[in-house]
This record gives sequence, C-alpha cells and structure tokens, in this order.
Amino acid sequence: MHVGDGDAKFQSMTRTTSSSDRAHVLIVGGGFGGVETMLALRALVSERVRVTLVSVSPLLAYKPAATTESFDETPPLAYDLRAIAMDVGASFRLDRVEAVAADAHSARFASFTHLDYDALVLAVGARAATAIPGALTFRDQQQVHHIRRLMSELRSGTLRRIIFAVPSGCSWPLPLYELALLTATCLGELDVTGEVMLVSPEITPLCVFGVQASGLVADLLVERGVRFIGGSDPQRVDQSGALVLASGETLDADRVVGAPKLRGPRVTGLPADRWGFVTTDALGGVIGLPDVYAAGDMTSFPIKQGGLAAQQADVIAQRIASDHWASVTEPRVHRVLRARLVGGANPVYLRTELDEFGQATASTLHGNFNDSESLAPPEKVFGRYLSPYLHTRAPALSRTATDG
Ligand SMILES: Cc1cc2nc3c(=O)[nH]c(=O)nc-3n(C[C@H](O)[C@H](O)[C@H](O)COP(=O)(O)OP(=O)(O)OC[C@H]3O[C@@H](n4cnc5c(N)ncnc54)[C@H](O)[C@@H]3O)c2cc1C
Repeated sequence: MHVGDGDAKFQSMTRTTSSSDRAHVLIVGGGFGGVETMLALRALVSERVRVTLVSVSPLLAYKPAATTESFDETPPLAYDLRAIAMDVGASFRLDRVEAVAADAHSARFASFTHLDYDALVLAVGARAATAIPGALTFRDQQQVHHIRRLMSELRSGTLRRIIFAVPSGCSWPLPLYELALLTATCLGELDVTGEVMLVSPEITPLCVFGVQASGLVADLLVERGVRFIGGSDPQRVDQSGALVLASGETLDADRVVGAPKLRGPRVTGLPADRWGFVTTDALGGVIGLPDVYAAGDMTSFPIKQGGLAAQQADVIAQRIASDHWASVTEPRVHRVLRARLVGGANPVYLRTELDEFGQATASTLHGNFNDSESLAPPEKVFGRYLSPYLHTRAPALSRTATDG
C-alpha cells in the first residue's frame, strides 16, 4: 500500500471548528454510494447531523440503464442531485475532491476551497479504462450511441458477426450479457442474419451467482442464439478485426465490444492499492485514516456493483450514527449481490450472498426478489433507502447523464 503524493502545506492545516453544533458529514460523490449514504443518514439521525454532498456532476447517472437505452430511444436516465439533496435537507456543491488531510479533518477541492468535516464519506467511483485494445469499450451511457449505430449496421447487413468480450478481472460482466442478449433478440425480431458471441474467462455464464443461476443464463443464451465461449481470456483486436485470446487463438469478428477494466480514483492523502483502489475495514473505514470512510467502486472489494455500493453506504451511515449517538445500534455486515438480468422474454432475478472476499456463499433464483427488495423496471440497483426513494422521484429533465 502507498499513500498518494503528500501536500505538506495542506496536511499541516489545523482543523477549524464546525460552523454548527451538529456533526458535519461530508459526502463526496453523487453516485449510488453517495446518495444512499445521504438517504440512510436522514433515516437514522435526520436532524442531528449536517450533511454536505459534493460531486463533479450535477446528476446521479443511472449507468445500469445504459444497456436497455442502447436498444430504445429513451434518453439517459439520471436524477438531479441538487433536488435530492434538498429533499433530505442536505446542501449540494459542484466540485471535484483533490486531496484529503485526515489529521486536519479537511478535504480540498478543485475550486481551491477546503471543507472541514467530522466524518468524511468518499464514494467517487472508479475510472473505466480500455481493457481490450481495438474493441469498442462499453463504459456507460456515453457509449449508447455506438451500440445504436452498430445495430443499424447489423440491420443493413454491413456487419454480421459481433463479439461481446469480457476481459479477465472484470468485476461486473452482467452488462455484456445484456448487450449480447438484447442484440440477438433484436436480430431475431427483425429476422436479420447475424452471429452474436459472448467470450468470457468465466467457465459458465455469470457463475458468480451459482450453478443453478448459471444454468438458467446458459439456457437463455442458447434460446436467444448467443454462442457462449467460456474459459477464454480476450486480449486485443487485431488488424483484421479478429479477437485475439490469451491462448493465441483468434475469433473472427466484424466488431468487438468489450467491458472496461476499472481503476481506483487516486485522491491525494488516501492510501491506495496498486490499482488505485482504497482498502477499508469491514465497516467501510479507510485503513489508517480516522473518520474517513469509502464506499462503492472506489474500494478494493472485488465486485463493483451499485447494490453493493449501497450496502456499503448503509453500513457506513449506521457506523457514523452509532459512533455519535448511542441510541443507534452498531452495523452488521451482510453482503448480498442482486441483479435483474434483462434481454430474455422476462427479466431474470439473480441473488447470492457474498463473503468478505466477494465469493458466493448462498445463491438463489427468483421470479422477483421478496417484497422489501422489489425493483420496478427500469430499476436495476437495489438500495435499502435508494430504491423506495427513486420510486417517488422523477428523473432529471435535462437527461444528459454524463460525468465530468
Ligand atoms: C453498463 C453498466 C451496467 C451496470 N449494471 C448494474 C446493475 O445491473 N446493477 C448494479 O447494481 N450495478 C450495475 N452497474 C454497476 C454500478 O453502476 C456501479 O457499481 C455503481 O455506479 C457504483 O456506484 P458508486 O457510487 O461507487 O460510483 P459511481 O456511480 O461511479 O458514482 C461516482 C460519483 O462520484 C462523482 N465523482 C467522481 N470523481 C469525483 C471527484 N474527484 N470529486 C467529486 N465527485 C467525483 C461522479 O460524478 C459520480 O457522481 C453497472 C455499471 C455499468 C457501467
């Protein structure tokens, strides 16, 4: 582990007293982790805490909707962070965190402002880098127009063979399964000849969800005409357009769409592993930094998923609440991976419990989750406070869900 470059002047700043007698919780990052933290704090300690949310984008981008948005004409699903903050009595600032001085209980932002905190929750996500050179990297809603163009080329017969490639180390392959299924379904409906392949290091499809679920997903791929090539490690696309595997084998393709590899955010003052991810204890505390917490894709937990980000956020909110107010019970960690896989005739609901290493311990298949976990389309992220809250909130009108 190493600590990001020090900023001596900043590190030596003295902590100034909070302008309010309520504890100040500073949340940085307006994704699922940050918003769930804010909603959980409101539910647990409401008036007793002052919350500031800071994010580089004014929107909560609903990235999981990127797959279905590629096949319909809907604009990118996103929610207005300022309005969400207002709903819960928090303040919102548009800014980028650059450094944390844990000793001084202060964070520095790109606008050169410093904000003091009693507790700091970081949920700034991960950086999505190209994993398969030469392939189209499907990162989020910003790549939707590429898939729409690819579909029109398939329809016109310019393209015939598409490979969706999961790189080794991919922490959340489900979007590529959805893209493959939706592409094949679309070709079937249009009666267009084409070949859709899904190439992955996984031995069986979505095996993280267990044998039964994997079998069901395998059947779905067959039913839709998607050829699954497991146990393969996609490396790059060669000049002829073929996908080159680590084994040296090549697979002919007219287009290859790949998932990205994720890297941590690297914020000065935060300890990070070699990929830039921040390591926390089981309750979300950043190792070695008192009163600093991290949730979601920026942490070193091996599976990067919105529902898990929300669970980490709940634990952190409960920990902050129980540290400050004895009436709140200490959190218990219970990691559950839930997914709503679309692309077949009906969505498939997958669920498994995870241990601290991200390994599945108890998998189940559902027609839907139980009532308290239910997700209404187009929702794909389960958050204890986030899901019911988003049921009540209209998406942002501007619908330009891009992060800075
Ligand atoms: C195509 C696709 C499909 C997916 N499908 C699913 C799914 O079906 N189910 C599911 O649960 N998950 C899914 N995921 C994963 C899920 O979107 C992520 O795991 C989740 O968004 C992580 O939440 P987060 O809060 O950690 O980070 P993010 O959602 O990435 O949010 C990070 C926030 O921090 C802000 N930010 C970044 N840097 C800074 C900075 N320096 N200072 C201040 N603010 C900053 C960003 O603007 C953003 O608001 C999918 C992801 C993709 C891309």
